[in-house]
Amino acid sequence: MSLHFDVVVIGAGAAGLFCAAQAGQRGLKVLIVDHSERIAEKIRISGGGRCNFTNRDIDIRAPQKHFVGENPNFCRSALSRYTPQQFIALIDRYGIAHHEKHKGQLFCDGPSQQIIDMLLAECAAGNVERWQPCKVRGVVFDADAAVADRYRIDTDRGPVHTAQIVVATGGLSIPQLGASDFGYRLAAQFGLRMVTPRPALVPLTFAGDGWAPYAALAGLALPVQIAVGAKKERMAFLEDLLFTHRGLSGPAVLQISSYWKEGVPLGIDFAPGTDVAAALGEAKSRSRKRIANELATMVPSRLADAWVGEDPALQRPINEAADKALSALAERIARWQITPSGTEGYKKAEVTAGGVDTRDLSSQTMESKQPGLYFIGEVVDVTGWLGGYNFQWAWASAFACANSLSSGSS
Ligand SMILES: Cc1cc2nc3c(=O)[nH]c(=O)nc-3n(C[C@H](O)[C@H](O)[C@H](O)COP(=O)(O)OP(=O)(O)OC[C@H]3O[C@@H](n4cnc5c(N)ncnc54)[C@H](O)[C@@H]3O)c2cc1C
Repeated sequence: MSLHFDVVVIGAGAAGLFCAAQAGQRGLKVLIVDHSERIAEKIRISGGGRCNFTNRDIDIRAPQKHFVGENPNFCRSALSRYTPQQFIALIDRYGIAHHEKHKGQLFCDGPSQQIIDMLLAECAAGNVERWQPCKVRGVVFDADAAVADRYRIDTDRGPVHTAQIVVATGGLSIPQLGASDFGYRLAAQFGLRMVTPRPALVPLTFAGDGWAPYAALAGLALPVQIAVGAKKERMAFLEDLLFTHRGLSGPAVLQISSYWKEGVPLGIDFAPGTDVAAALGEAKSRSRKRIANELATMVPSRLADAWVGEDPALQRPINEAADKALSALAERIARWQITPSGTEGYKKAEVTAGGVDTRDLSSQTMESKQPGLYFIGEVVDVTGWLGGYNFQWAWASAFACANSLSSGSS
């Protein structure tokens, strides 16, 4: 005999667990299924093990401005109906100590496991049944069946009937933690449109010999302003950049990667807030120090040495330098242009941009054009900035969905 639930949530990550808990606490009979051995692995490793669970800087009037997607306004409704303050109130109720680190980012003082334990306790409070590990083999829709039984989900533990399915299977990043394209395939099965997925919040790489002169800078971190695009399309971040053996990483690069498109150059200012051309000109009028030493008062000396080392005209005291050579140097410090060849891919990406096309979803309920089929969290074409925004989207989309689910037969 087949089992029946009001709602079956597929994927027990951040969005799935929160949605299941909320729906269960509303009195719905909820099953959550996940194919992984371990629960909510991404929460566990997030924020360096301290889970950056939300961001206080979300602008209540325009929450969409910290999100990327074909329609950034899609996330506005859910984000305004479940705010960071509401999630903070929840974790305060559980006595989970937390602190603000940088630009509104809130982290647990202790391990991320506290957030997982809280979500499991919330699920228990809603009598949510959890099957894990349990594979979902397929989903069948029967338009002629009673609404309560219109979906059959074939799992390792047998078939389950339900009126509503919530897909919370996340994106493709970090495949070793159970990421799969299940959500995308299910969307395709029901004729929903997709925005091609791509790695985001990801280090950028530079192929061939072009990177060789900079590989020696691996390990160097410094604050920069990084930008991509022009005019209305321009996006810029003031954050730390990290040189690696294969390219660039650090928060500045992860942030810009969500906006970067193949073939487009990045513009990097290594001395934001400093007029390097004026400072070098002023140094020339009073100093006999080597150019690299003067430059090292504005940027880290490793970077100053590398940049000056590239041009023989700069291997001299600054008072002997040609104005043209100094202004070219200033230009390369304040407006360095470099075009990445690619990204480190899903293996290193914190998130997947793209996903289920929001044109086929309701921004109020997360229900798709296929009745009773919902998509929440990262599987949707909504990608947050680095800094707790992705978890806030997971909580908010889950909340919007959970509050629109019905007891199944209506
Ligand atoms: C290293 C790292 C650090 C991060 N740090 C932060 C941070 O500090 N702050 C922040 O806001 N965001 C962070 N993120 C992003 C954040 O973890 C995700 O955006 C968030 O977890 C998405 O939630 P989700 O529930 O949609 O998907 P997930 O949390 O990925 O959950 C998806 C679940 O679905 C399951 N699943 C997948 N396929 C199937 C299938 N076929 N059948 C059954 N189950 C399936 C998976 O096993 C998984 O449990 C980080 C990500 C990474 C990789």
